[in-house]
Amino acid sequence: MFGNPSSRSHRFGREAEQAVERAREQVAELISANPEEVYWTSGATESINLAIKGVAYANPDGKRHIVTSGLEHKAVIDTCLQLADKGYQVTFLKPDSQGMICPEIVQDALTEDTFLVSLMHVNNEVGTITDTSTISEITRARGIVFHVDAAQSAARLPINTREIKADLISLSAHKMYGPKGVGALFVRGRRHFPIEPQMHGGNQERGVRSGTLPTHQIVGMGAAAKLANECRDQDMQVITALDTALRSHLAAIEYSFFNGNQEYRTPGILNVGFSGVASESLMMSMPNIAFSSGSACTSSHIESSHVLSSLGVPEQLANCSVRFSLGRYTNEAEVDFAAAHVAEAVNMLRQLSKGLKKQQPSKKNFKVPDETSHAVLA
Ligand SMILES: *Cc1c(COP(=O)(O)O)cnc(C)c1O
Repeated sequence: MFGNPSSRSHRFGREAEQAVERAREQVAELISANPEEVYWTSGATESINLAIKGVAYANPDGKRHIVTSGLEHKAVIDTCLQLADKGYQVTFLKPDSQGMICPEIVQDALTEDTFLVSLMHVNNEVGTITDTSTISEITRARGIVFHVDAAQSAARLPINTREIKADLISLSAHKMYGPKGVGALFVRGRRHFPIEPQMHGGNQERGVRSGTLPTHQIVGMGAAAKLANECRDQDMQVITALDTALRSHLAAIEYSFFNGNQEYRTPGILNVGFSGVASESLMMSMPNIAFSSGSACTSSHIESSHVLSSLGVPEQLANCSVRFSLGRYTNEAEVDFAAAHVAEAVNMLRQLSKGLKKQQPSKKNFKVPDETSHAVLA
């Protein structure tokens, strides 16, 4: 279907349009919304930018205050910081030590000048779940626009826009097994609040987001949404069992600890640390296992995870923390394989670190290689 979905004058365009609209229905169904409430974007990052900047710049009351949290994805944090640079006031709520943002602290942060609250549904680093449904009642009662970053929850939790009364919800296809480079923004109702487009041009998506629609990407996102809807309960059952198994394997490793609330989190995102073992060394010692540190590592320095630091996890422990994700296609053998290798690598790195420490007092002209000394925390 190579036709342009916006070309209604010929059959090729209309075929593509039908495919795009079918996908719109599939995404709408995933979140119990109406298809007209779904707008295509290039991913959750763009949806988030459109939601936050779009509402801020169109804000008809001239209000200037935004409430968000330190737990958010960089797409939210950096967008809000950009607005702060332009004179908006931003409150970054601090979660409790387990990564929870409770509705009361959101309520307490609201002022007469607040026009937007932006919070994530499921945190991507620790898996904690925010009570977006209760918060949506609070914001609605005060006429404040509420944006929910649901990139992580779409495949894991039911999102029902009749229960979560958010005005805006950001979604990403590749976080629910769809293709990369496509996402959606849910905008409630017939846009009872204005949004200033962030992309101008051919007026696609009813003028909210210009640009020729990528039919193939959108169809992929629709299929992913349909599957997520059909498989979610079954997937989560399997993932919960795998999560429990992985958690107990990792808990058995000496001096391991878990970050985030272990009760209010979605199974499948496991943030674990091994005292004294730097996450970067652990990752480098197991290139065959796909897991991440909570930190973004640039060539010159290691930046701690902003999520763990907002939980108040000391930097030394944050730098020893890694995150495992389990999904629809993870199996028990992989969990066992990963757990066994992690245990082995943690032991090996601790032995290495002990050996280095023993050598250090007597070393005269012996220099510990820089790479090792930075990688293995004392
Ligand atoms: C991945 C992710 C994003 C960004 O989504 P993209 O589609 O990759 O732009 C935003 N928020 C959360 C919570 C995410 O996990």
